[in-house]
Amino acid sequence: MSEALEEPPNGGGILYVVATPIGNLEDMTFRAVRILREVDIIAAEDTRHSRKLCAHFGISTPLTSCFAHNEAHKGEHLVQRLCAGANVALISDAGTPAISDPGAVLVRQSVDAGIAVVPIPGASAVIAALCAAGLPTDMFTFVGFVPAKKNQRAAFLQRWGALDHTLIAYEAPHRLEACLEDVCTLLGEKRELVVARELTKVHEELYRGSARAALEHFGSRRAKGERIKGEIVLLLGAQPPQEVEESVGETVGRLLLNTDLSLRRISKEVAQIHPVSASEAYALAMKMRQEMK
Ligand code: SAM
Repeated sequence: MSEALEEPPNGGGILYVVATPIGNLEDMTFRAVRILREVDIIAAEDTRHSRKLCAHFGISTPLTSCFAHNEAHKGEHLVQRLCAGANVALISDAGTPAISDPGAVLVRQSVDAGIAVVPIPGASAVIAALCAAGLPTDMFTFVGFVPAKKNQRAAFLQRWGALDHTLIAYEAPHRLEACLEDVCTLLGEKRELVVARELTKVHEELYRGSARAALEHFGSRRAKGERIKGEIVLLLGAQPPQEVEESVGETVGRLLLNTDLSLRRISKEVAQIHPVSASEAYALAMKMRQEMK
């Protein structure tokens, strides 16, 4: 194992993509600490936040900000420094940079400039949640954040809820119940799921159960005055085979009754689930809507 920074292959510096803890500081790796100490500059999502992390681990490397809204511009400047031979470490506020966090733009710019990009792996909420969830791990789809708006969330659940393997998403605590309600309505109350909350922290919780049971669990805690706080990863089990057997008409009817989706959107969703074209689904949805009036 190398004890110092690797020799750059082309005279340029190296961009290290460094994971930091998602809560528990003991999850910082020895290698991450060494790299952060040895690079010339650390590009951080929030320098004030990362300064505390650096102070904790005795890292005195200069920090510069690299966040979602300045990443493209800042990236060009950092690539110039990399090309001139500087070594740069990229970190985000928590977890692995570029995973629902800034970083992908700088990595792309560096790759395009022929700069070596080296991952320094460590914590990431998506993998921490998956490995302990108890759902199948052989195949999974990670879809980032669940959309905040109700009709976008409905379209999102329709699109991703029909997978035959584990689905993983990030969700905000104040939208958890609304999201669970939509899972019950759109994907079925029996859908198996896991709510992984506050991973690696003092109030870590992994709730495992059906969508209905989860809704009741978190709803009753709220009713008792508890505010569900913290950071959440939501994992859905694969769509059970019997739900696939819903007829075209049943799917159209369920979407018409339970969502605010437009006919066009419904027909697209139906065409993704069933072997019908979107125009056939549209015609059926229009007919059924007229009959419901
Ligand atoms: N790049 C990070 C990673 O690799 O985990 C994710 C950053 S994303 C902006 C932040 C979201 O990740 C949170 O809103 C939450 O959904 C999830 N998350 C981060 N830390 C978590 C934790 N300790 N427990 C559960 N979810 C967490």
